[in-house]
Amino acid sequence: MSATLPLTRLTDLDRAGLSDWCVEQGADAYRADQIRRWIFGKRVGHFDEMHDVPVALRAKLKDQFMLFDAQVVRHQVASDRTEKLLCELSDGEHLECVLMRETSRRTVCISTQVGCAMGCVFCASGLNGVKRNLATGEILEQVLRLDRLLGPEERITNVVVMGIGEPLANLKALLPALDTLNEKGALGLGARRITVSTVGLPDGIRALAAHGKPYNLAVSLHAPNDELRNRIVPVNARIGLDAILAAADDYFDKTGRRVTYEYVLLRGINDEVEHARQLGALLSDRNAHVNLIPMNPVEPLHLDAPSVVQMRKFVNRLEQAGVNVTLRKRKGADIDAACGQLRLQEQVGAIQPSPT
Ligand code: SAH
Repeated sequence: MSATLPLTRLTDLDRAGLSDWCVEQGADAYRADQIRRWIFGKRVGHFDEMHDVPVALRAKLKDQFMLFDAQVVRHQVASDRTEKLLCELSDGEHLECVLMRETSRRTVCISTQVGCAMGCVFCASGLNGVKRNLATGEILEQVLRLDRLLGPEERITNVVVMGIGEPLANLKALLPALDTLNEKGALGLGARRITVSTVGLPDGIRALAAHGKPYNLAVSLHAPNDELRNRIVPVNARIGLDAILAAADDYFDKTGRRVTYEYVLLRGINDEVEHARQLGALLSDRNAHVNLIPMNPVEPLHLDAPSVVQMRKFVNRLEQAGVNVTLRKRKGADIDAACGQLRLQEQVGAIQPSPT
């Protein structure tokens, strides 16, 4: 009797990889497209549901691959129908992903790492550092799991890589995942409907541009000068705003995609009208969009959003400078939908003694 080999995640294979496998099994290469359509387009939960795939090939698939690796350990639904999953990976680590509904938009927010090394002071994801990168299949599974929460008439319209982790620190796994989401025979989502959010790693921004697909780029700026940004976003100390903006300008030149700058509004820290003036000065000559995000409170952190009046003043000052700006609405507030909060609870829960 031969020892059982561990199963491979099917979603770790790209189209070419799966075609090669099919050919190795003596099947036609086009079977790969059929299989991928079942997984990405038809929401199957099991290989046996792939009716037009020959039974013998299905049996081989079952022998060698798993369709889903991560287990959903928590599923929360907010009053605005935002849904959040906490998934346990095969090594016991956890990740989070979120589904947001707004009019006809169905946006999924996905994670790229277990934890985060960036250490932004307001963010729950980085409180315990980074454990490891996610694999391509682990990134894709989040989209597949969330897609299966949708009703028969609903379709994913947008993907934002704004969950746990720094996406540009894991481009090797992320790019094949995004390309599968974009691929016609898989999820078939237009590149313009996919957004990668980064703390601002210039080499990563350039590598993403060189990849040649017009994915949207969002840069998490959070401060209009280096002195303040070094305090809020510690990695900035070895990068600096000039280098980030130069890389983002190159991204725009190469892809033609307008760059979004995210700015979490933190009461008493980066929310003064003077900060808005400085931000306006940085961005008014650029083809940029500013997305202001009121701080979503995180349990162990003593940080809050500014008052509505203060946020309005900030918006007005940016508009005066001619900057395109939106103030993001909070979604899923009653289910801790800000990144990393559920995973953090899971970790805290794990180290607390159980009640006796
Ligand atoms: N590392 C990437 C992607 C993850 S963070 C990045 O830095 O962009 C995705 C977005 O969520 C970032 O703009 C981040 O600033 C924001 N965010 C994180 N914690 C938040 C909180 N507590 N409240 C509001 N926004 C938060």
